[in-house]
Amino acid sequence: MADRARTAARRTSKFLKPATRELVRARVLASERISPSFVRLTVGGERLSSIAPMGFDQWFRMLFPDAGQSELHLPIADDDQWWPGLQAMPADIRPVLRNYTIRRYRPAGAGRFGDTAEIDIDFASHGDPGPASVWADTVRPGDELALLDEGIIYQPVPEARWQLLVGDESALPALAGILDSAEFDMPVEVFVEVADPDDVTAQNLQTAPHVRVHTVVRPDPDTRPGTAVIEAVRAADLPDGPGYAFVAGESELATGVRRHLVRDRGLPKSAVTFTGYWNHGAAAY
Ligand SMILES: Cc1cc2nc3c(=O)[nH]c(=O)nc-3n(C[C@H](O)[C@H](O)[C@H](O)COP(=O)(O)OP(=O)(O)OC[C@H]3O[C@@H](n4cnc5c(N)ncnc54)[C@H](O)[C@@H]3O)c2cc1C
Repeated sequence: MADRARTAARRTSKFLKPATRELVRARVLASERISPSFVRLTVGGERLSSIAPMGFDQWFRMLFPDAGQSELHLPIADDDQWWPGLQAMPADIRPVLRNYTIRRYRPAGAGRFGDTAEIDIDFASHGDPGPASVWADTVRPGDELALLDEGIIYQPVPEARWQLLVGDESALPALAGILDSAEFDMPVEVFVEVADPDDVTAQNLQTAPHVRVHTVVRPDPDTRPGTAVIEAVRAADLPDGPGYAFVAGESELATGVRRHLVRDRGLPKSAVTFTGYWNHGAAAY
C-alpha cells in the first residue's frame, strides 16, 4: 500500500477506509476490449489525484449518466452525506450508482493518455444488461463519470499461514489487485470462475512460486455463476493450520464458500472476508 494511503487510512469494523474523500469528476480517456468478457476503461481528471492509491481490492462508488441523460449531475456531496444528496435529486437528472475496483492507478505525470492521474477499471460485460455494463460497452473518450473512494475490504488475519482467494469475473480485478499488491510469504490458492480462460490470461496475474491460480471455466452460459467455483473449492486440497480467505462475487458464491469454509473446514468466521458483489437476477441498487 502506498505510504500516503496507509497513514491516511482509518480502519472500520469491515473496511480500511480513506481518512478523507470527495466525489471526484473524471472523464473516459480510453476504452479497450482486453478479453472476451472484459472492457477496460481508463479514466482521468484533475481531481483524481485526491484519491490515495491503496492497492489490493481498493474499490469505489461510480456515478454516471443514465441512458437518455446528456450530462452528469452530481449530488452536493460532503463525505458521507453523498447518499441522502443522491436520493434527493430529481429522478430525471439523478445519475446511476454502481461499485467498481481500481485495477491500476497511475499518478499524474505517469499516465499513458495525458497529464492527470489515471485509473484503469475492468468491467465484466455480462449478458444480462445493466446500466453499468451497457455504459462501459458504449462510452467514448470524453464521457463523464464520478468516483467516490471506499478503500479496501481485504484484511488478512495476522495468524494466517495460508490464504485462499475466490471470486467470479466481477471479483477478478480485485483478486488481480491483491496479487499485485501483497508480498506473500505463505501458500496462496486462488480460485476464479470465468466464462472464458482468456479472461484470466489477460489479467497477467502476478504469481510468486507459492501462489497457485485455478481457473474454473463455467461449464455453460446457463449455469448460475458461482456454482462451479464453489464445487472446486469444496474439492480442493487446502493447507492445514490457520488460514485466511477472501471471497467475493455473486452473493451466493460468497455465502456458499464462506459456509463451507466455516462449517466443513473449521475456519473461524473472523478469518473469512466475504462480500456479495452482485445479486443474480437483481439490479445493484
Ligand atoms: C466492492 C465491489 C467491487 C466491484 N468491482 C467490480 C469490477 O471491478 N468489475 C466488475 O465487472 N464488477 C465489479 N463489481 C460488481 C458490479 O458492481 C456489479 O456486477 C453490478 O451489478 C453491475 O452493474 P450493472 O448496471 O451492469 O448491472 P445491474 O443493473 O446491477 O444488474 C442487471 C442484471 O445483471 C445481472 N448482473 C450484474 N452483474 C453481473 C455480473 N457480474 N455477471 C452476471 N450478471 C450480472 C444482475 O443479476 C441483474 O439481473 C463490484 C462490486 C462491488 C460491491
